[in-house]
Amino acid sequence: MSCVTTQDRAVAINPTRSCAPIGAMLANYGIHGAITINHGSQGCATYPRHQMARHFREPVEVASTSLTEKTTVYGGKNNLLSALKNIWERFNPTMIMVCSTCLSETIGDDIPGIIDEFKDNNPEITIPILSVKTPSYIGNHATGFDNFLKEIANNLPDRRKKKGETNGKINIIPGWVNPGDIRELKHIVREMALHAIWLTDYSETLDGGYYEPRPHFARGGTTIEELQSSSKSIATIALQRHIGGDAAHIYERRHNVPAHILPMPIGLENTDAFVDTLTEITDHTVPEILQVERARLLDALVDTHMFTSGLRVALFGDPDILEGLTSLVVEMGMTPAYILTASESKPWAEHMVEVTQELGVESEIIIKSDLHELHKRIKAKPVDLLIGHSKGKFIADAEKIPLVRVGFPVEDRFGYHRRSIVGYNGAISLVDEITNIVFERRATGVVSNTLLELGVEGPSTMPLLIPNGNGNGKH
Ligand code: SF4
Repeated sequence: MSCVTTQDRAVAINPTRSCAPIGAMLANYGIHGAITINHGSQGCATYPRHQMARHFREPVEVASTSLTEKTTVYGGKNNLLSALKNIWERFNPTMIMVCSTCLSETIGDDIPGIIDEFKDNNPEITIPILSVKTPSYIGNHATGFDNFLKEIANNLPDRRKKKGETNGKINIIPGWVNPGDIRELKHIVREMALHAIWLTDYSETLDGGYYEPRPHFARGGTTIEELQSSSKSIATIALQRHIGGDAAHIYERRHNVPAHILPMPIGLENTDAFVDTLTEITDHTVPEILQVERARLLDALVDTHMFTSGLRVALFGDPDILEGLTSLVVEMGMTPAYILTASESKPWAEHMVEVTQELGVESEIIIKSDLHELHKRIKAKPVDLLIGHSKGKFIADAEKIPLVRVGFPVEDRFGYHRRSIVGYNGAISLVDEITNIVFERRATGVVSNTLLELGVEGPSTMPLLIPNGNGNGKH
């Protein structure tokens, strides 16, 4: 049976988490023409900008109130008021999001109060100005993203909805994904002849083309008008439980828009859950193109099984991507031996015990932890494969274990933000990548697999773990 463990050490060594403002900044990048003001010292804007630029390979623009020693003692109100005025006059944005930092939260600046004062003094400025709480000592980058979505759900949707009024669209909250993932999700929705409001859509703003003259704001992103209309949508689907799940419930509570909270659509079963939900909400059937993609994924899983079956894998990252990856690696016949996150969520850990139990595997689920802890375990009982972000490179190098890079940040590879790991196509790419790494390691003997070592390429004598079907038979 799977078990839950946690880390005793107070200090983190090689942590898997980033700071909270980065999550709010990333989400805000998905709104067309929106600008972030980071209320803190300059480093609190510079660190997230660098982290995002290394991952997305795009220039990332964020304003900072640049708090100093004096403003730390006397408060940063005047800096924030000036920043709001400057940003409005110089950029004319569609929305301003002010995120707090460890510093501004600790000195106790009343950011919503300062924004109210700014609006009172500048009645001609009618754009939305949001305040998002992002102290990094409460949560991490995922919390920042989630808090941003809650502020959007609470403040942007139009509340003057008439009874029964609808825009015929679905609010979809992808959560923390890559631009390539959002494009794959859009492909699924488009092929089903549906229309969505994306909360939020940075598929172009953080993976744009080269245009001359450079547009005033990056192309793409969800518009303010779409967000205002989102209270009239027929449903909200959150594709990550921890990033966007609460926002979906706010839509349900405040705007009577039913919430559907799903696991991240990585792998066959989780993608089926997304597609099935779309069919249930709308009565649209699954088009042939998606059925073909599904069949191709199933075929890839069958084909790869003899090479990957029985391998032990260590997964690390954020809770939602871990839940999705767990499902996919089990569909490939592998065992997720260690599942490690910095999150402290015990309910998630208990949920993962149930998930692994249902999938028929035994895992150690390690919460509130870091990569030093994972390294210790791998030294004691090795794995064949690591799956997670670039910070796992140190374990991979030291133990000569291949690392499949997914999640955030991936800063030592180029173009990974353009790839997709969600949907049927994303899963096929990931299955291919994992299997090719297994093939490559076959030569070095790092991956232990009896069939590979014997060079057997005929039908496997191992049972094939073909995942369950699609649930409702609509495929
Ligand atoms: S002080 Fe806090 S908000 Fe600023 S960079 Fe460090 S963790 Fe992030």
